[in-house]
Amino acid sequence: MALSDHVNLETFMEGVRKRNPGQTEFIQAVQEVAQDIYDFISDKVEYHEAQILRRITEPDRIVSFRVCWEDDNHNIRVQRGWRVHNNNAIGPYKGGIRFHPSVTESVLKFLAFEQTFKNSLTGLPMGGAKGGANFNPRGKSDSEVMRFCQSFMTELYRHIGPDTDVPAGDIGVGGREIGYMFGQYKRITNRWEGVLTGKALEYGGSQMRPEATGYGAVYFLRNMLEHRGEDIEGKSAVISGSGNVATHAAEKITQLGGKVITLSDSDGFVHDPDGIGQEKIDWVKHLKTVKRGRISEYVDEFKSATYHEGKRPWGVETDLALPCATQNELNEDEAKKLVENGCAAVSEGANMPTTLEGVKVFHEAKILYGPGKAANAGGVAVSGLEMSQNSERITWDEERLGDMLTNLMRGIHEKCTRYGDTGDGYVDYVKGANIAGFKKVADAMLAFGVV
Ligand code: NDP
Repeated sequence: MALSDHVNLETFMEGVRKRNPGQTEFIQAVQEVAQDIYDFISDKVEYHEAQILRRITEPDRIVSFRVCWEDDNHNIRVQRGWRVHNNNAIGPYKGGIRFHPSVTESVLKFLAFEQTFKNSLTGLPMGGAKGGANFNPRGKSDSEVMRFCQSFMTELYRHIGPDTDVPAGDIGVGGREIGYMFGQYKRITNRWEGVLTGKALEYGGSQMRPEATGYGAVYFLRNMLEHRGEDIEGKSAVISGSGNVATHAAEKITQLGGKVITLSDSDGFVHDPDGIGQEKIDWVKHLKTVKRGRISEYVDEFKSATYHEGKRPWGVETDLALPCATQNELNEDEAKKLVENGCAAVSEGANMPTTLEGVKVFHEAKILYGPGKAANAGGVAVSGLEMSQNSERITWDEERLGDMLTNLMRGIHEKCTRYGDTGDGYVDYVKGANIAGFKKVADAMLAFGVV
């Protein structure tokens, strides 16, 4: 079959839309990748003949299940849980679990799809998956969260395993939830095995795992800036979110001499022109993970700050921006505002936080833009190293893991520049990440034949 006989990008996307009706997040994620892959494979008949892109956009399987639990008032509650196995060509499925009311099959399919490329980029042997439930942990007691996690794992345990699928945390799933789920897995199977990552250090967790995503996003930012002969020192940074990724990104920016001026949650953002330094970051970590409070409380504690109810932080003047909350939290107008205000670089701690139109604005303005699948890969990379430590029955020290994370992020940056160099000194990191991530998975799939 000649190359000209294969469907063009438009027809391909039409098929994706038809097969996945209403799944806007998934279609958006495929659209963003397909353009670059089509350019890359335009002269490569083997990928077309084997229908590689078509196969990667069809998850290996999706498990959907009922999760029943009892709240503190003895009401029976019913949630829906999922695990999406997107692709395991290069290693066991791997990807986080998200508990948030906005979780749908479309959101998890987009995340599992992105995860496939991200995991490939790390160079470690990990396939792509994602899971979660439309459960809102906000306002729930520890006992309620425990009962929910146990019920969720009572089904999920059938579909995971150290060589099959190794989930981790994500939005709404931190150390507490991983502990409850790991405990239930162990109770049901009577096996202690490295089936989840993001575990606490006492039972098989890895040093640097909590820090890895946020720190990694800042290392990626530093790599991008260095490529242009600049660095982070003395620069201001606007960060969204106030969870695991946001607070650790803020910590690393501060350590490297930058000044963080915003943090947010789903209700609004705080702007602290004096800077959110280490002491304040520690206060926010405690607020979010122990007190389980809201970011609005920051202004009661730190008088230099203002709170902006119902707003996102992208209108604040800044040199650097790190979206670290959720998908589609930065739109075209907000991207324009950032560029107008002189923002020089964006590094995504969250997954797909910038809309397709927003990404276009960054590219047209030729500012540095590191997409989540590259910039936030540090988290899953250290999760991969947690798996290695569990298999070896050994723990590595913080220094070694810190060095490995720095090197992994540098490696990802190099892969992006290799495939994303536009020839005029600008690097299209989206294109670089998409092609480098795709190539490894695609070549493995070619080797397997039609399966
Ligand atoms: P957390 O649950 O620790 O924190 C999430 C933060 O984002 C909270 O401040 C939350 O506010 C805010 N948020 C959530 N939903 C929305 C929304 N719809 N609008 C505005 N703000 C929102 O999650 P993480 O920090 O772990 O994850 C953040 C992002 O990073 C996600 O996109 C995740 O997929 C991505 N990521 C995480 C990794 C990890 O290792 N944890 C790895 C790679 C990517 P509120 O308290 O109001 O809900």
